[in-house]
Amino acid sequence: MTREKDDATEKLAVARKLFAGPCDFVWGTGDIESLPPQSLPEIAFVGRSNVGKSSLINALTNRKTLARVSHTPGRTREINFFKLGERLMLADLPGYGYAKASKAMAAEWQRLIFAYLRGRASLRRVLLLIDARRGVLDLDRDVMRLLDEAAVSFALVLTKSDKLTPGELAATLAVVGDEARRHTAAFPEISATSALRGVGLDPLKEQLAALAEH
Ligand code: GDP
Repeated sequence: MTREKDDATEKLAVARKLFAGPCDFVWGTGDIESLPPQSLPEIAFVGRSNVGKSSLINALTNRKTLARVSHTPGRTREINFFKLGERLMLADLPGYGYAKASKAMAAEWQRLIFAYLRGRASLRRVLLLIDARRGVLDLDRDVMRLLDEAAVSFALVLTKSDKLTPGELAATLAVVGDEARRHTAAFPEISATSALRGVGLDPLKEQLAALAEH
């Protein structure tokens, strides 16, 4: 094996080990004033309600019920924090854009999400989840603009990629890639994932493991 191949294999093994290790719920809050201490590099999972956020967190950490997969969209109203192996904090944010939420509730969740994203110094990267069938929508663009302004690095992650044909997926990746290039804080690579089929998880684990505390 070449040296490069050795290094790549090692990196993947380290990332897989991190995500296979302990991951514990530490804190849940709907109050921006009571977030947990910023002791570890933090990764936030953000996206529209029903985008597949809980399913992706569970698939990455190889757990069935760490994040609750919602049968009623819009149910998670708190930011939930999970500690991954004492090396990384994962923050699961409430989904936005739930059609049946009242205007007041929608505004309150948006305030919580935006206040967190703007003000969290330990936040190293935001994974902005996009349903592969829907592509980037206006509320997602609002989040991207905020992250540009706050200079918080974010990566776009397509979910439910199993619902597209390979041709459709390639076309969506091209469109979403164009969108990402218009944002100063966007990570250049777009991940295509399927929590259902376990697709695209390793590259995401590697991306996040690179940000973990050593
Ligand atoms: P959340 O509201 O963003 O946390 O989304 P959930 O993880 O609760 O998922 C919303 C719905 O999408 C559920 O019915 C899931 O079964 C479905 N879903 C999530 N991930 C996938 C996936 O990778 N493929 C498919 N086909 N469906 C998915």
